[in-house]
Amino acid sequence: MKYIPRIAAVFWILLVVAAAAGSPASAAMPVSNVQTITKWDMLWDGVPEEGSIPEPPPDKEEWEPVGSNEMAGNKPPGSSSAWIRMVLPQLAAETPAILLENIYGKHVIIYKDGIIVYESFQSYNYEQNKILLPLDREDSGKRLYIWADSRLERLGISGGVIVGEQRDLLGIMIRKDVFDIILGSSFILIALTLAICSIFLYKPNRSVMLSLSAVILSVGLLIVIYPPFLFTFYREYAELYLLLFDMALFLLPPSLALFFEQILGKILYIRRFRKWLTFYSIACFVLMIVNWLTMDRYYQLYYWISVILFGLQLMVLLILLMVASLKRAWKGDRDAIILSVGCACFAALSVSELLWFYIRQGHYNLFLWKWGVVGFVISLASILARRLAENHRQVVQYSQELEMFNNELQRSEKMEIISDLAASVAHEVRNPLQVTRGFLQLISGKEEGKNKDYLQIALEELDRASNIITDFLTFAKPEFEHTKVLHIDEEFRHIEGIISPMANLQGGKITMDIPEGLATKGNSSKFKQAFINIIKNSIEALGDEGQIHIRAYRSGDEVYIHIRDNGEGMDAQTLTRLGEPYFSNKTKGTGLGMMVTFRIIEAMDGRITFTSAKGIGTEATVRFPAASSNSAPES
Ligand code: ADP
Ligand code: MG
Repeated sequence: MKYIPRIAAVFWILLVVAAAAGSPASAAMPVSNVQTITKWDMLWDGVPEEGSIPEPPPDKEEWEPVGSNEMAGNKPPGSSSAWIRMVLPQLAAETPAILLENIYGKHVIIYKDGIIVYESFQSYNYEQNKILLPLDREDSGKRLYIWADSRLERLGISGGVIVGEQRDLLGIMIRKDVFDIILGSSFILIALTLAICSIFLYKPNRSVMLSLSAVILSVGLLIVIYPPFLFTFYREYAELYLLLFDMALFLLPPSLALFFEQILGKILYIRRFRKWLTFYSIACFVLMIVNWLTMDRYYQLYYWISVILFGLQLMVLLILLMVASLKRAWKGDRDAIILSVGCACFAALSVSELLWFYIRQGHYNLFLWKWGVVGFVISLASILARRLAENHRQVVQYSQELEMFNNELQRSEKMEIISDLAASVAHEVRNPLQVTRGFLQLISGKEEGKNKDYLQIALEELDRASNIITDFLTFAKPEFEHTKVLHIDEEFRHIEGIISPMANLQGGKITMDIPEGLATKGNSSKFKQAFINIIKNSIEALGDEGQIHIRAYRSGDEVYIHIRDNGEGMDAQTLTRLGEPYFSNKTKGTGLGMMVTFRIIEAMDGRITFTSAKGIGTEATVRFPAASSNSAPES
């Protein structure tokens, strides 16, 4: 459910982009008042001499009729140029004009009435021309001669030829390319933004983002440069466009492979192929520079290597990437699924459009595939976004864990200080006590009667004080001097004896369910101290009809002891602070009971956990490693 807003957002963005770009289908829609010329004649011509201007050939030559439905035939050997002649229809428009949507030729000249009315020469290797030529109303029925020359393979008219109002034709001429310009420019902008943002990322993410930015940049450049728009309206930088186009072409395959590699993990064949493509791209780049410096001397070779061979390798790469991501997607990898969907969107749109192109026998302007590219790029970008989100989640998790560890550390530091303090104070007090006890004993030997009784009481009280100090020392020195096998049932019988009077006083009842034969190893008095502390807390928490249930059993290699009461219970904060030194909610509490208990249980290799609910009760669960109950006591 939570994905629905995101999907809706993407949908709306797509819709807005589509509206802004203007559907190319609507751009291709016929405007009223325009006529289409569908027939003309063609005549192949030789290689022109340097600097010569050709003359329109006589009509008696063998002109070959060609329709806009057919492609011009292959160039016959020995010819590099061709003539086209067409008859202008009745011109009804106020300011008539003719739009030649696409003529192949590096040098194009148009004659009317034997006079040159248009000439363009491209010194660079781009042979597409989009020509809008103004006409006169008197030109109706006249013949137009077009001469086109190109060293390259393609020659002649390939797009539509439309006659009509100049204003309308201008619209048609621009609108067809505007979509590509907007789409491509947006890609370039996105790519640059990504590249800038990547500066702020750490290394692994930076290379993912940079390779994605390179992919989007090269696709954007290819889309912007390919249509004749820039060459028609910003002719002065034409050579730069061509260089950029080729560079974009060289950049695309290695960066695409690198991006996939980083998303799908290292896949050997993709990695090898990527290295090869990088090498190949660099070689093509060098060849491009050489060819450019030597004024296209190696153009044929360059064309072969950089367009034909490179295109083939790009196809192979796309197939490999598709296979790799499908394999991963099959295994349930989310990123791979998104990648595959992106690839599939691109492939489905392109293939179905190509089929339509063939069904219409070439009378169709391919544009849907660009939406496929958009889908593909969106899938790439969403993978990147997922990466970043995942990293963010991890950082948050780490910082939470860090905080927890920090708290734990602070707590254990506090304990450390307390134990040191306890140890030194207890030690210091015990010495004078021992000395005092010695002297008292000495005096009591010589005394008679009442004084002797008083001295006896003083000695007992001193022993009690000494015991308290010893208990306090537990905390500082929990390692036990006298460990032996403790029979749990026996220990608890003693504990019950001590604690029952206190429970009775509170009106509480203690029930025990402890089978014979359970044992663990430890010091008996520490063990009792630990459990007396727990049970005392339970008693203190009891209200009317208080019940404390103690039960023990063995599970695996451990002895479990549960102490459950139906007292006031604890809230979450009290539970987390339990065992902190001096933490107490009682007016006369010391806040040391649980701390000592935790310490003893820890020293016995045991674990203690509490579950509690306010108003319902508390259960302490203690686990110890089990010992066999008949093994001999140790010391
Ligand atoms: P003290 O008993 O001196 O307050 P303790 O370390 O023994 O110190 O216990 C700390 C606090 O934990 C108590 O003040 C009490 O609020 C809470 N507590 C411990 N055990 C229980 C229990 N069984 N039921 C309710 N609260 C308890
Ligand atoms: Mg207590």
